[in-house]
Amino acid sequence: MRFFLSIIFLALILSTTSVAQELKTDTISVQVPSKEAPAKYPLVEDGPIKNVIFIIGDGTGLAQLYSGQLNLVGKDGRLHVQRMPVSGIVNTHAANRLITDSAAGATAYSCGAKTNNGMIGYLPNGEHCKTALELAQDQGKSTGLVATSTITHATPASYAAHIDSRAKQAEIAAQYLNSGVDVFLGGGKEFFIPQSEEGSRREDDRNLIDEFTSNGYAFVDDATTLKSENSDHLLGLFSLAGMPSETRTPTLAEMSTKAIDVLSKNDNGFFLMIEGSQIDWAGHENNSDYAMREVADFDAMIEAVIKFAMEDGETLVVVTADHETGGMTLQSSANENEMTIAWTTGYHTGIPVPLMAFGPHAIEFTGWHDNTEIGKLVARLAGLGTLPQIIE
Ligand SMILES: [Zn+2]
Repeated sequence: MRFFLSIIFLALILSTTSVAQELKTDTISVQVPSKEAPAKYPLVEDGPIKNVIFIIGDGTGLAQLYSGQLNLVGKDGRLHVQRMPVSGIVNTHAANRLITDSAAGATAYSCGAKTNNGMIGYLPNGEHCKTALELAQDQGKSTGLVATSTITHATPASYAAHIDSRAKQAEIAAQYLNSGVDVFLGGGKEFFIPQSEEGSRREDDRNLIDEFTSNGYAFVDDATTLKSENSDHLLGLFSLAGMPSETRTPTLAEMSTKAIDVLSKNDNGFFLMIEGSQIDWAGHENNSDYAMREVADFDAMIEAVIKFAMEDGETLVVVTADHETGGMTLQSSANENEMTIAWTTGYHTGIPVPLMAFGPHAIEFTGWHDNTEIGKLVARLAGLGTLPQIIE
């Protein structure tokens, strides 16, 4: 008995010390003097929704946004995302886990249905669920996906692919070819080039870039050609893997602006999903500088999106997260020009995430929702149809 007690005691000591060692903290500067608080973006009169821009900050909780505010604009300043007139809270659990991954998290938004971690537009019973993007296509709207990860990563894939595992990115790239999505912009050339080419992560000889161009897409791979290309069908892959964070070109704002320029030519409207992918990656690394840089890139995109939506008046913009990553929190700091960011895990957390909305019917997003309700709401309010739906 005494032996077991001492084992338990030892285990307790070991577990508490290891937790204490794992808790990483960083000192990050606060913008001084603070910027002045700018006005909120206005509520828009309710009317028909022509366009939907659904924005996912992967791994983006309240602490990520608020520390971004302190770092970028100071105590009294506001990020663009914080100026959106409506906010809500979203529960994020998956079908099989309390802590979701990005596949189940994005599928809840795209399909309005719970699924298991790792599954993309695909339900635990093997059925494929129809996505809001696919409903928009049925109505003759143009569609687009923008991300700073590989464009075949879990979040964008959940809108235009149906597969049991997010790891099958080469197969997801092949599914995109026949998806009818008009604009793809992001990283991940490695899944589109044949295995013979350096850096390829395909296990076959298919050159999907060639197949896309044969299907009428223009292919671009740098910021300059992205800007000058005028095609209605655009595949832009700007890096082999995820897009670099420190020297990102084009920026998320530049990609999103281009996507809106192309998609808004359609008189029937459009559905665009934009992901700030790497706030999550910064969380996995417990890297505060990386997180601040990614929040800045994300917020510059929000500014560009809201600018379009304000002029347009018929665009619903929803900004939320699939889950929080890193268990980021803010601790007291002796120096008021600094803050202490503490990380409590290298994985995702179950803390509910913030949601912000702008545009017609934005007020419907106020309050505390389940992530599947958000997917259903977007489809219903935009007149796209009822979610969830099974694809026959
Ligand atoms: Zn993650």
